[in-house]
Amino acid sequence: MKIKKIKRIGLLTSGGDCPGMNACIRSVVRIAIFKGLEVCGIFKGYQGLIEGQVKPLNRRSVSNILSYGGTILKTARSSEFKSLPGQKRAKSVIEENGLDGLIVIGGGGSFRGAHLLWQRWKFPVIGVPATIDNDINGTDSTIGADTAVNTALYAIDKIRDTATSLERIFVIEVMGRETGYIALQVGLAGGAEDIIISERRYNIDKMSADIRAGHKKGKVSWIIVVAEGAASAAEVAGKITRKTGFETRVTVLGHVQRGGSPSADDRVLATRLGAKAVEFLIAGQADKMVGVVDSRIKAVDLSYAIKKKKVDTETLYKLIRILAL
Ligand code: ATP
Repeated sequence: MKIKKIKRIGLLTSGGDCPGMNACIRSVVRIAIFKGLEVCGIFKGYQGLIEGQVKPLNRRSVSNILSYGGTILKTARSSEFKSLPGQKRAKSVIEENGLDGLIVIGGGGSFRGAHLLWQRWKFPVIGVPATIDNDINGTDSTIGADTAVNTALYAIDKIRDTATSLERIFVIEVMGRETGYIALQVGLAGGAEDIIISERRYNIDKMSADIRAGHKKGKVSWIIVVAEGAASAAEVAGKITRKTGFETRVTVLGHVQRGGSPSADDRVLATRLGAKAVEFLIAGQADKMVGVVDSRIKAVDLSYAIKKKKVDTETLYKLIRILAL
């Protein structure tokens, strides 16, 4: 197939926001301009695309955003884009604005939408993985995950001080609807005694027995990290209190984990992936995601990226439990 020369590209952020999206936007805009392309920002994700919220961006449009969380392009979830009429409207806006390619910064859902634009009209789209859950197939890391883990860890370290001083059991709920990535990472980094994630069954009776046994051995505080999609921290805490007779406290970390200044790792990842996404479009790549595997950036088929990621959670889980002795 003849490759159409790319002169003008669109850029949008979609799905949940995460730290590092702005660093990626900055990288895409400046690399594209450096390579002689025009860049249009599409505001509010696919919904903004349908509504024609398209504005040219220049190198100054992205000044001083590198260190900020969130996304200057705003983001949204669009049910309209999931329908064919919505997708057709989006395609018309793409044509009206003379876009030759699109870069989509987002998670798995956003890539499903991007993949459809290629399947239906062979419109070239490159996805950049950005989600705090690090659950995208074909990449070791996603933008935002490192910062989210560090934010949760910062909170857990503080809670540990109180847990130790008051000799209490704390049940801490972290983000992760379908994946236990954040819970596993902070469980390990924060020295949690146990974690509950949707990838594995948990047993409250066993957990309560461990707490009682630990107490007899002189263990005075206990931290259990729960991924939001696996269980309700309040329910877990209630059950543990009933079964052990010990007081429990619940902390739900919530949206603090999505915001804040991106870590150095996230800024570097976002900058590298954004730059590569532009290069891929110029080189005639389409229907791909920029992924990072063993520190190398590679092109991953979007059809592969949207498949469920297989991760070995058992090895890290066992380590957490052994270290909680
Ligand atoms: P996060 O992991 O942070 O939730 P995400 O990209 O997975 O990010 P979603 O809400 O799943 O977030 O998807 C973002 C948007 O992508 C949706 O609101 C919708 O507009 C579009 N999208 C998702 N799934 C599809 C689909 N099957 N077909 C077309 N568009 C889709």
